[in-house]
Amino acid sequence: MDKLTIYNTLTRKKEIFIPLNPPHVGLYVCGPTVYGDAHLGHARPAITFDLLFRYLKYLGYKVRYVRNITDVGHLENDADEGEDKIGKKARLEQLEPMEIVQHYINRYHYNMQLLNVLSPSIEPQASGHIIEQQEMVKKILDAGYAYESNGSVYFDVQKYSKVHNYGSLSGRKTDELLTNTRELEGKSEKHSPLDFALWKKADPSHVMRWPSPWSEGFPGWHVECSAMSEKYLGKVFDIHGGGMDLLFPHHECEIAQTTAANGKGSVRYWMHNNMITIGGQKMGKSLGNFITLDELFSGSHKILTKAYSPMTIRFFILQAHYRGTLDFSNEALQAAEKGLQRLMEATDTINRIKESPQSTVNITEIKDQCYNAMSDDLNTPGAIAILFDTVRIINLLKEGKEKISADDLSELSSFMNSFIYDILGLRKETSGQDNDRTSKLVDMILTFRQEAKEKKDFATSDRIREQLQKIGIEVKDGKEGMEWRWIEVD
Ligand code: ZN
Repeated sequence: MDKLTIYNTLTRKKEIFIPLNPPHVGLYVCGPTVYGDAHLGHARPAITFDLLFRYLKYLGYKVRYVRNITDVGHLENDADEGEDKIGKKARLEQLEPMEIVQHYINRYHYNMQLLNVLSPSIEPQASGHIIEQQEMVKKILDAGYAYESNGSVYFDVQKYSKVHNYGSLSGRKTDELLTNTRELEGKSEKHSPLDFALWKKADPSHVMRWPSPWSEGFPGWHVECSAMSEKYLGKVFDIHGGGMDLLFPHHECEIAQTTAANGKGSVRYWMHNNMITIGGQKMGKSLGNFITLDELFSGSHKILTKAYSPMTIRFFILQAHYRGTLDFSNEALQAAEKGLQRLMEATDTINRIKESPQSTVNITEIKDQCYNAMSDDLNTPGAIAILFDTVRIINLLKEGKEKISADDLSELSSFMNSFIYDILGLRKETSGQDNDRTSKLVDMILTFRQEAKEKKDFATSDRIREQLQKIGIEVKDGKEGMEWRWIEVD
């Protein structure tokens, strides 16, 4: 098998992956900010780095996979202004911020289980690492790359740029960034618009706040990942991953922080997955094409012609290379659904193949091609194409048009099972057709409930809702009618 190569965003080239302390591998991935339901944009990084996690383990590495939860400090405009995303949701729903956090962590975990995404080894929350973040801010202040201003602490990008390369990851230049940034208003606490917050003083209405040497406040968004990756993976570690949308400013700022605090960057290989588009458009709440995973699984979004199972979504994402863009459409998802079904059927067909004294097919070659594709920067489309060739061979073997020996047959069977289930992380689920029928049944039951409500028969309407809840279907009465989603049943 070829050695694993990965595309390093920092050096902009494919490199052979050599861990710092083999067989141990440290992997850090930026996880979700938990203030809303997981959507399609969450599925791609989760599945991409789950694939990497699974493949590294297959290669024999002992992987410590850290995927954080952002539950504090991520402000609305992704910079240093606006309300805290979780704080705002808590205010609107009149809940304690940690109730919001717990609720969406539970929902995220449930969605990840459906997508067969393995749990990380450690899932640290930013709110549980305030001290570590403060320690890092102190180190950056001591190194002279940050300044205190009115109780807040900002990173001094201009001063840092004199010694280090701010923009090494994203390729952005500080002077270009400056011309593209609007002028600071007179009252700003920052010396330059490029500077970013390491610690923010909380205004009186801000709920999530902690004492610090500078003010009662909260950490800036970027500092959590620098502090938590160092705590769990050390000052230098192997791989840091995330979506391309995080490249700037989030990851650029992470590099600046660790370099300022420790004298050098901590990450040896940076990996970024590309974005998802829907019908050629970026996904966004204002564009009306913002699809949550719940909506995908239940088919309850107006642009979906049907429900798609979690494995259809997973397979669809794996069919594209993680660095390429991926466009969601009903047609493409339905094609993925059919392809997945063919693959799953083939793993059953293998059990019905009759052995021959000699083989006319070369199983070792198939295996090599598949693993070589995976080792080539996780080339899943290449590997899946070979799997489909193999499906064709499996069908010929079953029809007796090709021959296979007992040893080769057992090798073929264990290869297909290990590659499809363990590495790609697919699993058998009720067929797409059954899934579609189930969602049509739920829609039908909800029509009856609607009729009961219109007749003011609230007893029946409530009973339907309660019975559905018992079997794991939650019904919500929204402005535009009833919505439903799958929930966990205890
Ligand atoms: Zn991060």
